[in-house]
Amino acid sequence: MFTEDLDRFYSDMGIDSKLINLSKKIEADLKERFNHIDQIAEFNQLKILKAMQDNRVSDVHFAATTGYGYNDIGRDTLERVYADVFHAEDALVRPQLISGTHALTVALAGNLRPGDELFSPVGKPYDTLEGVIGIKKTKGSLSEYDITYKQVDLKPDGSFDYDKIKEAIGPKTKLATIQRSKGYADRPTFSVGQIGNLISFMKDIKPDLICMVDNCYGEFVETIEPSDVGADLCVGSLIKNPGGGIAPIGGYIAGKAEYVENAAYRLTAPGLGKEVGATLGINSSLYQGLFMSPQVVSGALKGAIYAARLYEHFGFGVRPDGSEDRHDIIQAVTLKSPEAVIAFCEGIQAAAPVDSFVTPVPWPMPGYNCDVIMAAGAFVQGSSIELSADAPIKPPYTVFFQGGLTWYHAKYGILKSLQSLYNKELLI
Ligand SMILES: *Cc1c(COP(=O)(O)O)cnc(C)c1O
Repeated sequence: MFTEDLDRFYSDMGIDSKLINLSKKIEADLKERFNHIDQIAEFNQLKILKAMQDNRVSDVHFAATTGYGYNDIGRDTLERVYADVFHAEDALVRPQLISGTHALTVALAGNLRPGDELFSPVGKPYDTLEGVIGIKKTKGSLSEYDITYKQVDLKPDGSFDYDKIKEAIGPKTKLATIQRSKGYADRPTFSVGQIGNLISFMKDIKPDLICMVDNCYGEFVETIEPSDVGADLCVGSLIKNPGGGIAPIGGYIAGKAEYVENAAYRLTAPGLGKEVGATLGINSSLYQGLFMSPQVVSGALKGAIYAARLYEHFGFGVRPDGSEDRHDIIQAVTLKSPEAVIAFCEGIQAAAPVDSFVTPVPWPMPGYNCDVIMAAGAFVQGSSIELSADAPIKPPYTVFFQGGLTWYHAKYGILKSLQSLYNKELLI
């Protein structure tokens, strides 16, 4: 029968029948949750489809421009599509935004001036932003331009510290940056609803405060985005969720027209702004990636929940746990030993469509105080909407993983990671 064929195929691909049987039980338990995830994907698919239809997307928009890129109607229309999807006034969506960090840098540097203060009401931002802001002394940081920084940490239970936030907002506070996903930090990821409450609270104190959300890893996990609940700017990377695994590069900044324009003047040059920037023939990938994104994000989410359930079963710490609501696609698993972390990453790597024959090894990485191991076999270098895992080799030996272009690949990768632990007798 068909399921037997499938079981045999998994077995041929190195997965023990014991794990297959466990997987079947867990999948059956997850049916209702997976249905809910499918419905969110369906909603977001329609939202994106409608934005493309309303903007009359056509194959002329896929033509390449070069040089200055004047009158690149494919680029301009894609920006209209993004603006509509995010229910924002305008958007900047460019291959010249080379990463999420760069997009965030451009949004910050474009909207802050000497003497202004940048404020994080949600604790320390993503590692790479420490250099951008100047929390860590770095050439060219905002701090060198006399832009100061203040942060209020979350309360021990992970909630917003409203009293301290109120105290912190002063006459110099120009822009508040709110990171939606926990990234690789030890705190919860915020729902869009929670972000909306925080923004309302801050705008009551200071109506002209610019509220920016670092939306990385959060896009299309819910049916609304931070721009639906008052965020003035939403910023993210196209080699994560909204690029759908197809965009080869890029970032986006969506929000109030004035603030998007300020960012554009910083990305290109004052006076030039959005008018220039050739797209060199990649527009169709940016459109197609956005179109595929809800489906891809749903697969990554299913994989994350499935992994939480499987690893929970074997007594490992998982965050979020197997039953919590999800607001991003990152899954943390605490594996308790360096051997288990390495085995996990070897399994993820061995399951990849690209470079499956490569063995990942821990390595000293710039910016870390310990060795780091990374597993990725991606079509796009560094893409973390594709199945990938990384971990610092230090206690408590937590591996962070995310992505999977399809649910089936995420499932296989997670089974392969578990099998790798099993083969080394690291499963309790
Ligand atoms: C990935 C990420 C970024 C930016 O990272 P890049 O690697 O520069 O694209 C910023 N914030 C969060 C929360 C992220 O997950």
